[in-house]
Amino acid sequence: MVQERFDTVVVGAGISGLVAARLLASQGQRVCVLEARDRIGGRVYTDRGGERTTDLGASWIHGIKGGPVHQIAQGFGLPMLEFTVGSYQAGGRPIAYYGPDATRLTADETEQFVADAARIDVELAGVIAAAPYATSYAEVTRLAVGAVAEREGWDADRAARVIEYFDHRSEEQYGVDARKLDAHGLEDEVIDGDEVVFPNGYDELASRLADGLDIRLEHVVYRVTRVGAPAVSTGVVIETERGPFAADHAVVTTPIGVIGGIVFDPPLPQTVADAISKFEMNAFEKVFLRFAQQFWDPDVYAIRRQGEAALWWHSWYDLTKVHGEPTLLTFAAGECAKQTRSWSDEQLFASVLDSLREIFGEDMPEPVQAQRTSWQDDPWTRGSYAYMALGCAGEDHDRIATPIDDVLHLAGEATWGEDPATVNAAMCSGHRAAERILGVELAFSRLVDPKTTAE
Ligand SMILES: Cc1cc2nc3c(=O)[nH]c(=O)nc-3n(C[C@H](O)[C@H](O)[C@H](O)COP(=O)(O)OP(=O)(O)OC[C@H]3O[C@@H](n4cnc5c(N)ncnc54)[C@H](O)[C@@H]3O)c2cc1C
Repeated sequence: MVQERFDTVVVGAGISGLVAARLLASQGQRVCVLEARDRIGGRVYTDRGGERTTDLGASWIHGIKGGPVHQIAQGFGLPMLEFTVGSYQAGGRPIAYYGPDATRLTADETEQFVADAARIDVELAGVIAAAPYATSYAEVTRLAVGAVAEREGWDADRAARVIEYFDHRSEEQYGVDARKLDAHGLEDEVIDGDEVVFPNGYDELASRLADGLDIRLEHVVYRVTRVGAPAVSTGVVIETERGPFAADHAVVTTPIGVIGGIVFDPPLPQTVADAISKFEMNAFEKVFLRFAQQFWDPDVYAIRRQGEAALWWHSWYDLTKVHGEPTLLTFAAGECAKQTRSWSDEQLFASVLDSLREIFGEDMPEPVQAQRTSWQDDPWTRGSYAYMALGCAGEDHDRIATPIDDVLHLAGEATWGEDPATVNAAMCSGHRAAERILGVELAFSRLVDPKTTAE
């Protein structure tokens, strides 16, 4: 079969791949994007069924001052709405807390709990810095809470509430049980500025980035060969079920969960393979419940339940303003997502609703519609995003992106150490791959206007 030849072939039309391709094309390169699915966007995926707009993948820009996503979304003129609870904060915005007995915490009790969580956050930095190799996030949070509780005379309940809060943070932020997340796995959680969501759908960002690019959908890549390696690589051949593609360079952006499905010939260098092996794909699913009327406080960002009874279902986010319809979003995360993966929709929704009824009583209305995601079963990601398994270091993210033989670049959310697991990380990793291929610095603003040179 005749091979098509390009300057660069990009594998994956998620945000990292689209950014790399758009920047390379803006510099005059002949670029082709090969995408396994029948759509672009990857883990940025908006469902528009039933006249509703639902982000089944990413929703938030976690901090509009921290990275380029907000700048680019603004440049494209995409509508955004402030919704600063996407990073499992204890406070900062109004949250309706309910205690272990399902009664509402008073303002004073809430203030005390929020202060306790902040107190441990400060303590944690020192405990993590001193932690031996391969310590878990569960261990460091317990050490930090234990030390503060002893110093300040906290009782067991007060300590338990904060410990469970940090366990839930590991589950909601990384989709993993705190005992499996490396102690350093949440160090990147620095939110700079407000968080925002996209009322018209996050996928508008992907569509705008894809505009004008040569994207081949339903092209499953199964082999990437570095021609001439290990002596001197003269290019790459990318094989798909629809035929081979040749290029001077390749950017491979497939998620950690499925990169093993591609044969690299010769194999990836040991440093890169070792770095990849330190990450695991998480278990993190969204559950949306839509109601005819709002029965919860209209002026809170979230509803949160404490205690043993709320081990799985503890936080519900009020998307009413975003969706224009009374809507609560909760997450199945970590063990909960794994165990409920095989449950029927009816079983899952009933379980969430039972937990809500403990707070709002038996008269709580039934939802008019409910929806869940199943990223764990998605063959093109096998999970929502990667987390740092025990023994993984922050630098392992960027190690994955080490240029290989000057012709092959790995990119994607897991390859960016500063704020991995985000759309921002995907965007920055695609930008880095394009800069490395071209050997020049590129302003992010080129994504909006290819002629600009300044940020
Ligand atoms: C439920 C959920 C909630 C999230 N919430 C947020 C959030 O609020 N904020 C945030 O910033 N981030 C969030 N994220 C993470 C964010 O969506 C990702 O970090 C980001 O979109 C990843 O982009 P990417 O380009 O690295 O990978 P992807 O988007 O996964 O793109 C990779 C592409 O490669 C394709 N592919 C895979 N294998 C092959 C193959 N063999 N051949 C060809 N193509 C292939 C895939 O189909 C995919 O399109 C969330 C993710 C999920 C799933």
